[in-house]
Amino acid sequence: MNMRVIEPKSSIAVIGGGQLGRMFIQAAHRLGYDAGTLSPTADAPATHVASWVVVGPSDRQSSLAEIARKAKAVSVEFENVSAAGLRWLARRGVVVRPGWRTLWISQNRLREKTFLAEHGVPTAPWRQVHNQAELDLAVRELGLPLILKTADSGYDGKGQVRIDAGNQAKAAWESLQQAPCVAEGFVEFAAEISVVTARGADGKSVAYPPALNRHRNHILDSTMMPAPVGPIVCQEAQQLALGIAQSLENVGVLTVEFFLTSSGDLIVNELAPRPHNSGHLTIESAVTDQFEQQVRALCGLPLGGSTLVQPAAMVNLLGDLWSNGEPRWADALALDPGVRLHLYGKQTAVPGRKMGHLTVLDPIAETALDRATAARAVLLGRKS
Ligand code: ATP
Ligand code: MG
Repeated sequence: MNMRVIEPKSSIAVIGGGQLGRMFIQAAHRLGYDAGTLSPTADAPATHVASWVVVGPSDRQSSLAEIARKAKAVSVEFENVSAAGLRWLARRGVVVRPGWRTLWISQNRLREKTFLAEHGVPTAPWRQVHNQAELDLAVRELGLPLILKTADSGYDGKGQVRIDAGNQAKAAWESLQQAPCVAEGFVEFAAEISVVTARGADGKSVAYPPALNRHRNHILDSTMMPAPVGPIVCQEAQQLALGIAQSLENVGVLTVEFFLTSSGDLIVNELAPRPHNSGHLTIESAVTDQFEQQVRALCGLPLGGSTLVQPAAMVNLLGDLWSNGEPRWADALALDPGVRLHLYGKQTAVPGRKMGHLTVLDPIAETALDRATAARAVLLGRKS
């Protein structure tokens, strides 16, 4: 394993121009790095804060060549970037973390599920769907309801349909352009939790406490950390997540999303080889935040502590909040001086688009969530 330390002041980069790239760059700057981005568009959240910007897709050789000239080390903001592009960079001597193999596995649900099965990790029962016969078989063997998910490039619930009756299956698959899919048995979960881990170049790893996540319309709505699920479930979730990071031999941040059943069983939903929306609150609440861990792992520095200074909650700010004009920022901040506002600098608010988030720390995590939710309601001009 490459144990070379890339010292602060060096130039490093992130592939992807969204809010995750932006927060990676902000963490890198705090540590004294010169940090740039390879962004598909010139006006994206990460480009506003980057020391330098290369505009282009992650699978164009000329863009990658420019990154290789400018940066000693490269990370990614999300998994849907070209794995071949990462391999190309690594072969030119650029330190690339996470590695292309981790990306290749986690960017495709069929490969990810196969990897988890091979390592004995519990998941929802699933079947591959490449043709009508496999779809029919999945409906018969898994039962209903089930969820059909495209194997490639899904996020925020995009590329997913729920099937409640057998006669809906064909139309559901057609609505996904008959792309290769995973059919998943529907999990009647009691809660959704996630564990953000980081693994250093020396193989040492850390896990944050599990976060409790609530979704609305398949998009993360709020997170509370630590999840109030008791020490046994917490430890088991952390162990499972760290085990997966180790099996992947991944260097970097890796998040594992779980379903928790009412009988206390943990089922892995999916992997994200990167900082996660549910870890944004670590910016204020943890000894070291998830983006700094990503920078440290990338640069071969020792990881920082992952304990919480205080429990915390986060609520997402989606584009829907702009439906009646600009949200009332001053009113929300006036309500509670403990509210921290993060905006990602996106120009157009579209319903469902992640525009920013609010974080609140409180000795009691549930109270932190109530306070964050109350502040968000004020943004819309509602009392709470
Ligand atoms: P994200 O980008 O938010 O992680 P995604 O598009 O990658 O989302 P998933 O995490 O697979 O998609 O699914 C989104 C949400 O849909 C889950 O968090 C969960 O609430 C619900 N969901 C997904 N799969 C199942 C399932 N098998 N049973 C029950 N609910 C599910
Ligand atoms: Mg998910």
